[in-house]
Amino acid sequence: SIYEIWNEVDLYMNDKLIQPDPILDEVLKANQEAELPAIDVSPSQGKFLHLLASLKGAKRILEIGTLGGYSTIWLARALPKDGQLITLELSAQHAEVARANLKRAGVSHLVEVIVGPGLDTLAVLKDKGTDPFDLIFIDADKPNNPNYLKWALELSKRGSLIICDNVVRQGHVVNSESKDENVKGIRQFMNALAQEKRISATAIQTVGSKGYDGFIVGVVE
Ligand code: SAM
Repeated sequence: SIYEIWNEVDLYMNDKLIQPDPILDEVLKANQEAELPAIDVSPSQGKFLHLLASLKGAKRILEIGTLGGYSTIWLARALPKDGQLITLELSAQHAEVARANLKRAGVSHLVEVIVGPGLDTLAVLKDKGTDPFDLIFIDADKPNNPNYLKWALELSKRGSLIICDNVVRQGHVVNSESKDENVKGIRQFMNALAQEKRISATAIQTVGSKGYDGFIVGVVE
């Protein structure tokens, strides 16, 4: 089927372009053993995040939605020695698995995992006067995406990258009648982005080992 060929091509490309990575293999195994849902970014998407962070020369990264820290590790590996990544996770169990994985990957000293509803933590970060982030990756509860977009603008600066995952949802994003809260959240996010003059963005549709989806990459102007 078409899904099989997408997966096969992903595996082929990864074999050519991504070094074998026993640590990331262990991370995915640890996630599976802890019964975390396998909704992390794919290896090729993880590497893409890594490349974007490198290109940007990002020193401060914010991630909303940690899960087991798979994307966190890809991003953290792009940080300089004095860089920092703050990642927000609702589930204490996910955060615990993530912390162990970050340790495994040797990036714990660069990453702070904060447990709680993302919106609450973002307000706390703002109150504490956190420095703006160079790259913000939105990948948590999709109904809150419009709110996360507001916060991303609040906590960024000119030139910051804002990336949002899972915006295509097998094409359901174009269904204005959808009752799916995730689709509704993405559509509200897209409407907000359409109105937002401070962000220049584009959407890239993706196929591969995680099926048909896509992400937004935007730059704060
Ligand atoms: N970025 C991860 C990766 O690629 O490896 C995947 C993140 S997963 C798609 C979404 C995560 O967001 C889940 O671990 C979920 O528990 C978390 N989440 C859900 N609601 C949240 C909220 N209100 N605040 C923070 N995190 C939340």
